[in-house]
Amino acid sequence: MTSTTPKSGQIMETGTMIDHIAFWQAPKVLETLKLQALGKPVAMLLGHPSSRYQKKDLLFIDNWEPDSVTELKVVLLAPYATINLIRDFQIEKKIKPQLPDIVEELMLCPNPRCITHSEEVPHKIRTVEGRLPFECYYCEFRYSHDQVKFL
Ligand SMILES: [Zn+2]
Repeated sequence: MTSTTPKSGQIMETGTMIDHIAFWQAPKVLETLKLQALGKPVAMLLGHPSSRYQKKDLLFIDNWEPDSVTELKVVLLAPYATINLIRDFQIEKKIKPQLPDIVEELMLCPNPRCITHSEEVPHKIRTVEGRLPFECYYCEFRYSHDQVKFL
């Protein structure tokens, strides 16, 4: 295997290639996409050489495009991910979703004592600069991408 990222067209004519997923995080991203029921062909490449991150994962999903909520979920799990839409064996569009300041009704607070686990309040997570980029709006618990769980 060379250090060149596989050309999308070598894999599929139409679909989505998610590039720059952190090493060994692609299975978690794939699970989040909830593609099982659709029966789409998927290829997963783990630990591909990357000049920027040494190793990265990629996902190739045939004949499928993410909606905006799914794009946001991908970048919440994989902050450096690029979502490439493939048409006619070419990258037609590159999507780098921007994180909103507050993510509402999408992620669970990992703190088991948080009010969100016992009372009917909307789930709100702030995005902040730093190694622990997520903070619960209520209990201020800080956590990282690898602790993200969706509602
Ligand atoms: Zn909380």
